[in-house]
Amino acid sequence: PTTASGDVGVDAAAAVGVKLTSPERVIYPGQGVTKGDLVAYYAAVADAMLPYVARRPLSLLRCPQGHAQYCFFQKHDTGGFPDAMKSLMITEKDGSKEDYFYVEDLAGLIAGTQMNVLEWHLWGARNKDIEKPERIIFDIDPDEGLGFDAVKSAAKDIGALLEEVGLKSYPLVSGGKGVHVIAPLVPKAEWPVVKEFCKTVAQLLAEREPDRFTANLSKAKRKGKLFVDYLRNERGSTAIAPWSSRSRDKAPAAVPVSWAELERVTSADQFGLAEAAERAGDADPWTGYFEVTQTIGKALTDKLPD
Ligand code: ATP
Ligand code: MN
Ligand code: MN
Repeated sequence: PTTASGDVGVDAAAAVGVKLTSPERVIYPGQGVTKGDLVAYYAAVADAMLPYVARRPLSLLRCPQGHAQYCFFQKHDTGGFPDAMKSLMITEKDGSKEDYFYVEDLAGLIAGTQMNVLEWHLWGARNKDIEKPERIIFDIDPDEGLGFDAVKSAAKDIGALLEEVGLKSYPLVSGGKGVHVIAPLVPKAEWPVVKEFCKTVAQLLAEREPDRFTANLSKAKRKGKLFVDYLRNERGSTAIAPWSSRSRDKAPAAVPVSWAELERVTSADQFGLAEAAERAGDADPWTGYFEVTQTIGKALTDKLPD
């Protein structure tokens, strides 16, 4: 059965000239969310989402049979996508050239949804300045069994530490288990400098409070701890986009919140698509994100406490 929001999705796709097939197909069985509903979701969040997503290289999680079925990450454009999904040539570390996806508008988001993209993952740099990240991400990954309160207090502590050295940051509730603390950057320093800074902070936290934090990727060393995943900050690695849907139970979205709002959030997958769509129309929770003029360099690393 086509739902009311599914009809909205059909109209939204038609309005931007993307041919939508099977809008009535259910892609989140638990919630009865159809492909048309997901298009309607992206139409609702596009104005909030596109400033973070447009004209950046993407990695797409595609689930042709919907959530909880076979899904795969696709980084390279092998054809078959509607024209609104664009591609950009990037030179790999080994010198070879590859086509990466990007979008520039709502038509692009709908084109991806037409191709069963359930998650939009982003590089940390823009197309026009691919070697210079525009943000640093502290991806807080809790070990199984750790509650969301532990994640929240870790996010707050990381935000406070960044503030101590002069970096303004913003929390993203991932739609999965954790929170990403994101500091926007003026694209100036290159990838290795930004990654090194993130790693240094992660290690500092782990040294100060070894029972609480680890900077070690190894699952065995994570027991009962929060892994501060600094590896999101490498050239070519990606992180979930603000406002992206997630292919997880409960049909959640990755939602930007203010530090004050984070206090009231009770789980990382609390915001379902309907609630996220409603929030996207509210005041911007990340005020000032694009006005920030901060950069990362050696001077900043020297400012970190011992
Ligand atoms: P959670 O809060 O549950 O940790 P998350 O989005 O932070 O959700 P992670 O498992 O921490 O998920 O992964 C971080 C990022 O690593 C993802 O957002 C994704 O961009 C990238 N990633 C993970 N697995 C793959 C993969 N198989 N191929 C490409 N990128 C991947
Ligand atoms: Mn994570
Ligand atoms: Mn991670």
